[in-house]
Amino acid sequence: MWVILFFFGAALGSFLNVIAVRYDPDSFLLSRRVVGGRSHCPFCRRHLRWFELIPVVSFLIQRGRCRTCGHGLSIQYLVVEVLTGAIFVVVPLYLRTHFFLLFSTFSPALFAIQAALWIAVFVALLLLALVDIRLMLIPDEINVFLGAAGLIALFAAPPIHSVTQGSFLRSYWERSSPRRSSARSSRSRGGNGWGLAT
Ligand SMILES: [Zn+2]
Repeated sequence: MWVILFFFGAALGSFLNVIAVRYDPDSFLLSRRVVGGRSHCPFCRRHLRWFELIPVVSFLIQRGRCRTCGHGLSIQYLVVEVLTGAIFVVVPLYLRTHFFLLFSTFSPALFAIQAALWIAVFVALLLLALVDIRLMLIPDEINVFLGAAGLIALFAAPPIHSVTQGSFLRSYWERSSPRRSSARSSRSRGGNGWGLAT
């Protein structure tokens, strides 16, 4: 199960690489120009065969080199694939470990929504970082997405939550009201913005 999740994430990671490398600020983040077209070697421009597109595995087997021209490929491809795979495993594991009671009391559907949401948020942050590193800018599309995800997290939280505990917006709230002792105690518990009522 976890292995499948990891490779699913890693496959998405190789897609993130494509977006991050091809993105240009003048077109929409997920436009056909950015997303479309088959993957090719950035040096000899040969289209990649299916067995060269297996995330993580292909890179390791080919020792990070193109099969045709032998040119070394950026380690970014491997790192991003592994990181995205890890996000897909760590986020559900974290939620399950820390909020087990919550989900067994309330609903598995809520668990799925929260897990998917937080995976999407971390994946978006990773993409944001990649584009930022390459172009020193942050695409508006990602900012809008993160804002929307914050709102969804707020409303998809279990009913026992107060407004400030529903999403990652909480950390801003805490900073703006340092006298709230509950804020401090929840942070020391390692709260991720989604803890049980304090
Ligand atoms: Zn090549």
